[in-house]
Amino acid sequence: MTRVFNFAAGPAVLPEEVLREAAEEMLDYNGTGMSVMEMSHRSKAFEQIITEAEKDLRDLMNIPDNYKVLFLQGGASQQFAMIPMNLMKNKVADHINTGQWAKKAISEGKLYGKINVLASSEDKTFTYIPDLKDIKISDDADYVYICHNNTIYGTKFNELPETGDKLLVADMSSDILSEPVDVTKYGLIFAGVQKNIGPAGVVVVIIREDLITDNVLPGTPTMLKFKTHADNKSLYNTPPAYGIYICGKVFKWVKKLGGLEAMKKRNEEKAAILYDYLDSSKLFKGTVVKKDRSLMNVPFVTGFEELDAKFVKEAKAAGFENLKGHRTVGGMRASIYNAMPIEGVKALVEFMKNFEAENK
Ligand SMILES: *Cc1c(COP(=O)(O)O)cnc(C)c1O
Repeated sequence: MTRVFNFAAGPAVLPEEVLREAAEEMLDYNGTGMSVMEMSHRSKAFEQIITEAEKDLRDLMNIPDNYKVLFLQGGASQQFAMIPMNLMKNKVADHINTGQWAKKAISEGKLYGKINVLASSEDKTFTYIPDLKDIKISDDADYVYICHNNTIYGTKFNELPETGDKLLVADMSSDILSEPVDVTKYGLIFAGVQKNIGPAGVVVVIIREDLITDNVLPGTPTMLKFKTHADNKSLYNTPPAYGIYICGKVFKWVKKLGGLEAMKKRNEEKAAILYDYLDSSKLFKGTVVKKDRSLMNVPFVTGFEELDAKFVKEAKAAGFENLKGHRTVGGMRASIYNAMPIEGVKALVEFMKNFEAENK
């Protein structure tokens, strides 16, 4: 068996320890004589799994009691519609356009109401986070929406927009659990788990309790009401049970490593190894404005398409997988989520140095 260093943007690397544990429990979970895949979502064993997963996530993110944690399906993309359906009372939302996922949320939001784009970094291919000092939140906006970490372009919000008494909604799909978050600043946080938590098929929603009501847009399906899932503790229908089980194991793994402060330190250390090299290299360069660089997704280029392709190909042969940049950006992207070990980043930089020496 050989494990590669997997730099994929998502679905992405998971902690090896978690995968091994899951493998051991595959045929007989905790004396039940069956796999978690095979058991009733109403069983005692599964009830314990989902309850513990929620508790561990609450501990990790310091989630206050007046917020609900929901484990839903449909991926992060389903939230692009579910959020307006549930929160657009005035049918107006303010958005900040920082990339492809932000844009998808904007176009989906437009199906339900008026979307004001307060700021955008599209003029420079989303290589920075727009200045938020001068933005004017609309009086009639139901919420202000941001994509906290931009997976494709490798930027992240280091400061939040001043939203006053307006709700802040954030897509944290690609940076949840990478560093501490003050949940109280948000009305709603959501994350598809396949970047930093678990297997695709689960989306975590952290939502302030007072936002969960029956007052939703007419025609909102039962399955797309937050209230349906909150009232039933994410067990209204069959949840993505096996995925939730793996998420639970990852929460325990993050706790064991010391929680989000420790993850932040580890992620800063990992990212610095790569960014420092990019800043000193004569061949490779990072594409993002320094102050807005993501700790999770690191895009870089040589400036020559052929050389980029050669690099990706040789890197793959050497055991560094999925370094090709997103099709809309080109070049390379190394996603270095929580589960990417520091050894992987060090080895990648060594490989890049050798490539640079050979391709001067
Ligand atoms: C991957 C990603 C999405 C889309 O997730 P799906 O689960 O495939 O719908 C949305 N937002 C961000 C920031 C992402 O990284």
